[in-house]
Amino acid sequence: MKVFYSPAHTQHAPPFEIFDGGEKIIHFETPERMERILSALKATGRYELVPPTDFGLKPIETVHDPGYLHFLQTAFSEWLAEPTGYERTALLPATFPSAASRRHIPQALLGRAGYYMMDLSAPIVAGTYPAAIDSANCALSGAQFIANTAAHIPHSAFALCRPPGHHAGKANCGGYCYLNNAAIAANWLTQFGKIAILDIDYHAGNGTQDIFYERADVFSLSIHADPNLEYPYYNGYADETGAGPGLGYHRNFPLSFGSDDAHYLNTLDQAIGLIADYRPSFLVISAGMDIYDEDPLGKIHISRAGISQIGQKIAALALPTLIVMEGGYNNEALGLNICAFLEAFLEK
Ligand SMILES: [Zn+2]
Repeated sequence: MKVFYSPAHTQHAPPFEIFDGGEKIIHFETPERMERILSALKATGRYELVPPTDFGLKPIETVHDPGYLHFLQTAFSEWLAEPTGYERTALLPATFPSAASRRHIPQALLGRAGYYMMDLSAPIVAGTYPAAIDSANCALSGAQFIANTAAHIPHSAFALCRPPGHHAGKANCGGYCYLNNAAIAANWLTQFGKIAILDIDYHAGNGTQDIFYERADVFSLSIHADPNLEYPYYNGYADETGAGPGLGYHRNFPLSFGSDDAHYLNTLDQAIGLIADYRPSFLVISAGMDIYDEDPLGKIHISRAGISQIGQKIAALALPTLIVMEGGYNNEALGLNICAFLEAFLEK
């Protein structure tokens, strides 16, 4: 299987994030995650690493807000140019607008930071923007590969994206995500037909929901921990099913804490049934491995055998499938977990 990967992600290594309780901790989403995955993939001898093609900004600009993209590109250097009395390693805001006060985008950099950043887990460092662009290009390159080969046999590809993307909305970063790689790839694929995106990351794909909520040409589904109790808190509820022309084309499947393999696979069957009924031309998977039993950020209990079964059930749809890397923070297990997921997509 082709794995689209760029080492540019190493430029993005925020030294900290602000965690629950205001604690300043080491950023969970580290470059080491990719090293673990690469070594596990290499050990199987079944994967071919391919560098991404540069698609330019157009496919990204059709998904993300231009003001947000400009902010993401320039914020760090603008910050360095401002006189401040403190050390500047990673940009985070200290203020966030309420829903009612989002009418104006302030001129001040830190005001814009609060406007475009949804939380304190996606700091911007010097290398964030180039890393995020290359990550999006990995997803686009994988999309192009499955589009080019779809006429023959349904092929799959793995976009080994870092930073991840599914929490990035039209005009916000958050949750370690800056550009929504899966959404950018899915949107690009709509030129060839209808697309389904299935998000299996432990956390709700709130950014993807935001981007496609009013569209019927991309059916987005997300299985995740109940947002009543878990990040990202404000989206991912079962009653959010799309709006306008997109009504009925978004589905959320919130899971209670402690959900196990059996419960997960049962929920997955429902999602897969809906995807089959929709009859998409292509499938995009937001593959987060933080569903794993021993993930430090997760509270559901999916075993490695369960992850393998999730892969088998999705692969049985026999659609050209782009698998996009999202979360997963148990670094020891991450490589083996992603291999367990991908196995069913390997050509025999
Ligand atoms: Zn996650």
